[in-house]
Amino acid sequence: MFKTIRDFDVSKKDVFLRLDLNVPIKDGKIKDDSRILAALPTINYLLERGCKIVACSHLGRPKGGASPEFSLSPVAQRLQELLKENRVIFANDVVGEDAQKKFSELKASEVLLLENVRFEPGETKGDEELAKKFRKFGEIYVTDAFGSLHRAHSSVYQTPKLFDVVLAGFLVEKEIIYLKEKLQSPERPYIAILGGAKVSDKIPVLKGLVEKVDGMIIGGAMAYTFLSSKGVGVGNSLIEKECYDVAKEIMKRAEERNIPFLLPIDHISAKSIDDTEVKVMETIAEGYSGFDIGPKTIALFKNEIMKAKTIVWNGPLGVFEKEQFKNGTVLIAKALADCSSLKIVGGGDSVSAIKVAGVENKITHISTGGGASLELIAGEKLPGVEILYEKGS
Ligand code: AMP
Repeated sequence: MFKTIRDFDVSKKDVFLRLDLNVPIKDGKIKDDSRILAALPTINYLLERGCKIVACSHLGRPKGGASPEFSLSPVAQRLQELLKENRVIFANDVVGEDAQKKFSELKASEVLLLENVRFEPGETKGDEELAKKFRKFGEIYVTDAFGSLHRAHSSVYQTPKLFDVVLAGFLVEKEIIYLKEKLQSPERPYIAILGGAKVSDKIPVLKGLVEKVDGMIIGGAMAYTFLSSKGVGVGNSLIEKECYDVAKEIMKRAEERNIPFLLPIDHISAKSIDDTEVKVMETIAEGYSGFDIGPKTIALFKNEIMKAKTIVWNGPLGVFEKEQFKNGTVLIAKALADCSSLKIVGGGDSVSAIKVAGVENKITHISTGGGASLELIAGEKLPGVEILYEKGS
């Protein structure tokens, strides 16, 4: 097992805290501070226990060192507003003179936020020298950066390797419990609903899940690659011919394992994505594309959902951003909300889709990570998760 900040006496410790504060920033202004808000329970827990916190995160994908548009400085300001009484100090570099000086002056229940870790070229390379420098900032290592745990980056993987005490914060704890522990021995039937734009993005997830689940439901544009690989006409719908082989392989595995593999049987079709004149078609005519699942498909999918005891969902079942194509995603989200199974939704767009349907409160766990959640759900080993288990045992 892994250890969390509740399993160790963190009082008055110097904590090196890896967070995911990768918020959208435009013209120096934070557009959405949800990730900062999400980090507060762990930060507050540590501050209340008199810890000195050296916090770090990446922001965006800066190329070739420091650049002001990727600075975490606006995040430090927002963190200060939110923490009110506790002082937040911002270091103008990651492990340089400024960070070291400010660390030497840091007091109990204060936070020193380092500059964007990706300003150090060694970060994404998983550099051990950089990790040694991070190591000097703490006695114990805490991670709450779930969205980064699939990357073997220096602050995510090499750094915790150098600590004896490596603990999960509250966000990471919840994600691992649901996406790993609960799915290791799920209550069955266990089904997966997968949608979204591309098969190519989700090949490892599809391959991993087809070995574990008792049923698979495929919607979204991804369904058209599966249908088309079987010779079903899909008109002008989005397909990836280069994924035909992998699609066939996945369907073959489902057949060998004797599990239902459900694809749409009717479609909301239109001539273009902006077309508001839509038609329900069982076979998509030439010149038309499928942009949402049709009523018969919704009934078919719902029937399977109602039988399940564990459900994971990733990816919208149609172009849910458009009024005329959101119905399938919304109704399937509501079907999920209405059943009493364990329901896990992961990945950026699926979370927005759940919000469009207004059922976020009826989902057991909504994951905050994109790639990290998908990989964990598929049963892959994530460097940042593995190190937590290694150090926790
Ligand atoms: P992903 O990031 O792979 O989960 O894909 C999400 C995107 O897939 C959303 O922006 C949807 O609009 C898009 N999408 C879902 N279904 C379709 C479809 N039938 N045709 C085109 N795009 C789709």
